[in-house]
Amino acid sequence: MEDYWIRSVTGDGAVRAMAAVTTATVEQARRRHGTAPTATAALGRTLTAAGLLGATLRVGQTIFVRILGDGPLGGVLATSDAAGTVRGYVANPEVHLPLTSSGKLDVGRAVGRGTLHVTLDLGLRSPYHGSVPLVSGEIAEDMASYLVVSHQTPSVVALGVLVAPTEQVMAAGGVIVQVMPGADERTVSYLEQRAKALPAVTSMISGGNTPEEMVEAALGEMPSQVVERGAVRFRCRCSRRKVQRVLISFGETELREILAEQGRVEVRCNFCAARYLFDEEAVENLISGMRNGNRRTLERGNGETIQSH
Ligand SMILES: [Zn+2]
Repeated sequence: MEDYWIRSVTGDGAVRAMAAVTTATVEQARRRHGTAPTATAALGRTLTAAGLLGATLRVGQTIFVRILGDGPLGGVLATSDAAGTVRGYVANPEVHLPLTSSGKLDVGRAVGRGTLHVTLDLGLRSPYHGSVPLVSGEIAEDMASYLVVSHQTPSVVALGVLVAPTEQVMAAGGVIVQVMPGADERTVSYLEQRAKALPAVTSMISGGNTPEEMVEAALGEMPSQVVERGAVRFRCRCSRRKVQRVLISFGETELREILAEQGRVEVRCNFCAARYLFDEEAVENLISGMRNGNRRTLERGNGETIQSH
């Protein structure tokens, strides 16, 4: 099954549900960052949560989810947009802890205590920022707490990543159910009951369940309709050209210092682990481009910066 998300609403509009299968996306993240199993689970759950919330965005809007705990992982970050493009990283990808007493990857201990931050860039002048203290560091509970506290919407969040002994991602995905404002108490308590009986996300996905079936399992007898569906994929927005622009902003002196120390300039993208190498000749080209750019700026005499390419 290809990775994809859906967004559904119940007939009366009282409940909204998002579900996604993200197995290939999380496996892609694992390969790029070389994460060990506990780190894979933490990153995968965070990427999935960002992807699910991304399903509520419009084109041009983005969401950033940051899990900043005092555990060995040292922070997990994921970002997503309306197109289902997700990317993210964990500060310490090598982290793997002993399994919990119930045989699960110990994401809570790897994350530790701290704060969950969500930044919504809706394309307005300033982005919306919300944060809540971490409940357990298991990420799903923390996201649910964020949705209740920041959005006043009682929410069920289930996230799961199943990692094989070979460290490969076997199943990943999640479900978010949100009770919209104005819904009655019975709806809330019915969904709470359903949530308790909901099978683990990883067993649903391993069993071949689709996002549609996951939403059905979460909503039970409440009829719902899929209002939107889209692909999920791990993709970064970095490019050699963007990295060049960053290097130019360093200025000639700093570039020459790096060159003198290391013989080349190497830039690694945090989000996708791509490496960009600039040998001596490439750096010299950048510098001469900067000089030409400066000269053009002076000739124009208008103080505008010209970006060199
Ligand atoms: Zn990148």
